[in-house]
This record gives sequence, C-alpha cells and structure tokens, in this order.
Amino acid sequence: MTDALRIARRVRHPLKFRLLEVVEVSDLTPSLKRVILTGGLEDFVSLGFDDHVKIFPPREGGPLVLPTVGPDGPVFPEPRPTARDYTPRQWDTAARTLTIDFAVGHGGPATDWVMTAKPGSQLGVGGPRGSFIVPTSYPHHVLIGDETAVPAISRRLEELPAGTKATVIVELEDEASAPPLGSAADLTVIRVARNGGPRGQVEPLRAAAETALADIPREDAYVWIAGESQVARTLRGVVVAMGFDPKAMKAAGYWRAGAVGAHEVIED
Ligand SMILES: Cc1cc2nc3c(=O)[nH]c(=O)nc-3n(C[C@H](O)[C@H](O)[C@H](O)COP(=O)(O)OP(=O)(O)OC[C@H]3O[C@@H](n4cnc5c(N)ncnc54)[C@H](O)[C@@H]3O)c2cc1C
Repeated sequence: MTDALRIARRVRHPLKFRLLEVVEVSDLTPSLKRVILTGGLEDFVSLGFDDHVKIFPPREGGPLVLPTVGPDGPVFPEPRPTARDYTPRQWDTAARTLTIDFAVGHGGPATDWVMTAKPGSQLGVGGPRGSFIVPTSYPHHVLIGDETAVPAISRRLEELPAGTKATVIVELEDEASAPPLGSAADLTVIRVARNGGPRGQVEPLRAAAETALADIPREDAYVWIAGESQVARTLRGVVVAMGFDPKAMKAAGYWRAGAVGAHEVIED
C-alpha cells in the first residue's frame, strides 16, 4: 500500500452549541446507557469515528445556560457550565436525532445526569469542533479500550470495509455486559472481564494485547487505544515495544482515576 493511502487528516467544523431534549433512554448493556436526543441537529456533522462532543449536563435545580460562539471562539457564562467529552455514537440529520452511549458505574455530573434522564430532560451539546479521519485502507485495525471507548470502537467497526481485519480488545464488567459489535471487516473480539474487580487496571488488557497482537504483521496495522489515561499510556508503550509503528497509532486517556473531566492525548 502506498503511504498516500495512509494519510490521516484533520477537518475543522464550525462550532455550534445546541440545547437538546431526550427522546429515549435505554440500557444498551448493564454498564452502558443509550440516550437518544433531539433538537437542532439538521447540520450536525461528525466525520471521524473518535470525534467528541462536549456535553453540558444541567446543574440540579438550575437553568442550563450554554456557551455562545464569539468572534474569538466560545464565550462561557458564569458560573461556567460543567462539560464532559462524549462520542457521537449515531446521528440522523433528517430525523434530527443524536445518540450517545454513557458508561455507568461511577459518580460524576455526566453519569449522575444519565442515571436520572428521561424523555423531556435537557442536555447541552457543543461540537464536534473537528474530526480526525484515519483511512480505513490499513489491512488490519486494532482497537483497544474500556466501556468509554465502546462507542468509538463501534463506529469504527461499522465503517471498516469487507476485506480488512479488525481485532478488538475490550474491557467489560462481565460477559452479560458485552455490547453488540458488528462489522463488514473480518472481526475478532477479545473480551476482558473485570468480574467485580476495579476499573482502570492495565495488566488484564496488557496480557490480552500481547497474546492477540503477537501474529499481526506490524506494517499492516493501525492501532487505536482509549480508556483510563495511565492504562492507555502503558498499553501504547507495550504495542510500540512489540514493533507496531507509532505513526500508525492513536492513544488517548478518556478518563483519569481520581480526576474529573480528563482528556489526554498520548503521544510519547
Ligand atoms: C474524546 C472522549 C470521548 C469519550 N466518549 C465517551 C463515550 O462515548 N461514552 C462514555 O461513557 N464516556 C466517554 N468518555 C469518557 C467520559 O468523558 C469520562 O468518563 C468522564 O469523566 C465522565 O464524566 P462524569 O461527570 O461521569 O465523571 P467525572 O466528574 O469526570 O469523574 C468523577 C470520578 O469518576 C471517575 N471516572 C470517570 N470516568 C470513569 C469511568 N469510565 N470509570 C470509572 N471511573 C470513572 C473519575 O476518575 C473521578 O474520580 C470520553 C472521553 C473522551 C476524552
């Protein structure tokens, strides 16, 4: 394959803040709640499988005042609204709906909001401000993460064409929490169950990655990793040490143990 087919690109989108309303809440799995929102989504755009929006859960009892867009970027009201990052899992501009899947099992403003959300509940959503588009032309796609990464992994699997291979290593609570993952790619899913153990542990994922990735031709693969920050950092180091190309790799901390609203791009 020529290098030209492997060039990732960034696309910027006009920033927009939307006040959306919940249409439906369901349990996708015991540890993932699915929320379908509606509102001014006619021009919603998300081109990259791991794009993110900022969600603004309303403060209890208070009105939701969203940022506005000024000439120099977003202008935040005081008090500044709480914001968290989430993946646009699905959207339909004609039906004006946006689906977000929330990992649950910890406390925090976003998770507390989803636990009580019901049709008619409001949620502010900003962005995505941009998309990072990774070509699907790699012969093999490796996707590693925990529940917070499942929406992006699901999107990626859905856009991979037949004739490619995908290896997913996903950390879950238990077998009953396995999310539906489908792809036209030749798909291998390795589930790493916590079975009541703590979240954010690297060893089970490291062991699974070392076994599952051993025979993948290094030059064929694009590797994507997301989850707890230190776990993602360690896993990136593991796959680099295995000989995978750091230039064909993206790793991110989607949350950090003991920190709120963390987002870390891991490049070393
Ligand atoms: C680019 C990006 C995309 C993301 N997409 C999604 C998505 O689609 N779905 C999704 O569920 N999450 C997603 N996340 C992760 C999500 O933003 C964080 O889990 C966020 O911290 C949740 O906010 P909160 O208000 O519930 O908790 P916070 O107030 O941020 O944190 C409260 C406490 O909970 C801990 N904590 C936070 N998240 C977790 C967790 N998953 N497991 C265990 N403890 C946790 C924190 O360390 C802290 O101690 C994404 C993150 C990024 C950066």
